Amino acid sequence: MDATPQEFDRVLSSMCTRPHPAAARAAERFLADNPGDPATYPDVATLEERAVATLGDVTGLDDPAGYVASGGTEANLQAVRAARDRAASGDPTVVAPTSVHFSFQKAADVLGVDLHLVPVDDDHRADTDALAAAIDDDTALVVAVAGTTEFGRVDPIPEVGSIAREAGARFHVDAAWGGFHLPFTDHAWHFGHASLDTLTIDPHKVGRAPIPAGGFLARDEATLDALAVETPYLETTSQATLTGTRSGAGVAGAAAALDEQWPDAYEENHERAAANAVHLAEQLTDRGYDVVAPELPLVAFSLSDAEFDAARDAGWRLSRTGSGEARVVCMPHVTRAMLDAFLDTLDAARVG
Ligand code: PLP
Repeated sequence: MDATPQEFDRVLSSMCTRPHPAAARAAERFLADNPGDPATYPDVATLEERAVATLGDVTGLDDPAGYVASGGTEANLQAVRAARDRAASGDPTVVAPTSVHFSFQKAADVLGVDLHLVPVDDDHRADTDALAAAIDDDTALVVAVAGTTEFGRVDPIPEVGSIAREAGARFHVDAAWGGFHLPFTDHAWHFGHASLDTLTIDPHKVGRAPIPAGGFLARDEATLDALAVETPYLETTSQATLTGTRSGAGVAGAAAALDEQWPDAYEENHERAAANAVHLAEQLTDRGYDVVAPELPLVAFSLSDAEFDAARDAGWRLSRTGSGEARVVCMPHVTRAMLDAFLDTLDAARVG
C-alpha cells in the first residue's frame, strides 16, 4: 500500500489534529473492544464512564450522562432526537442561528423535523432577539454554538438558555470545537449554570483524542434512557447510542487524552493557540487584510483567489467560509513557525 496519512505541518483548515501519543497508544490497545456492549466489554465501558465524568469537569456539568459518540454530527443528531421525541407539538421544530454546523441539516432531514435558521448579528453571533422572535409553540429545541465552525464565535449561552427555558423548549449547546478552550476564557462558559439539556464536546478535535471520539452529554440520565432501545441479542439489554458497534479505540483514546491533558495541558494549548491567533490576526492586519477579530483561536480574513490558490499550490490546506473568508484554525499542531511560514507564502504571492 503506497497511501500515506496526511502530515499536519501545513494543515490550517481542519478541526482534526495529531492525537496525543498516550491517546494513540490507548486506542491501539482497545481496537477490538466494543463499548456498544458494555456487559461483554466492561473495561472499555469503565474507560467511557471516566471520559464522560472528565468531560463533565471540562464543561462544568455535574455528573452528566452521556457517551463517546462517533463525532459532533452524531451528538448533535442525538440532541435533536431527544428533543423531538419529547416534544408536545406534533410538528416539532428546531430553532438555531445560521452559524450552526451543517450536521443540524442532516439531523433535521433524518429525523423529519423543520430547522429554522435565524440570521446572526453583525459579529457572527446568535441574535437573541431574532431567536426569541422565531420561537413558537412547535419549537422543541433551541441551539446555541460555543465556538462556531467558520468564525470561532461563542453565542450568548446563558441568554439563549433563558429564552429556550421560557419557551418550554429544550436547549442544546454545540461546543464540539470550542469546549476545550472555553474553561480558560472569561466567557460565561460554565454550562452547569446555563439551563442546557444536552451538549456536544468532541475529544477528537481540540481534545487530541484519535478519531472517532465525539462527546454527547446530557444533564440528566432520563435523556439517555429515553433514547435507549432494547438490545435482545447482546449481553447488555439496552443501547442509547445511535451507532451499534462502536470504536473501542475512540473511547479508550478519549479517556487517555483526557487523563493526560485535563486541565494543565489543555490550558497550555489554549494559551498557545490564543496567542498564535492574535499574532496571525495582527500580522494579517498589518499587511492590509480585512480580518475578523478572533474570539476563540480561529482567524477568518479576506483573501484574493490568486493568493488563496498560491497558498494551496504551496501545500497549505486552507478553506473558505460560506461567505468567502479564508479561515485558519489554530489547532494544537499549528505552531507560530507554521503561521510565519504561511505569511511568507502570502507575501511571496503578493510580490509575484
Ligand atoms: N459542531 C461543530 C461546531 C463543528 O465545528 C463540527 C465539525 O467541525 C461538528 C459539529 C461536526 O463534527 P464531526 O465532523 O466530528 O461530526
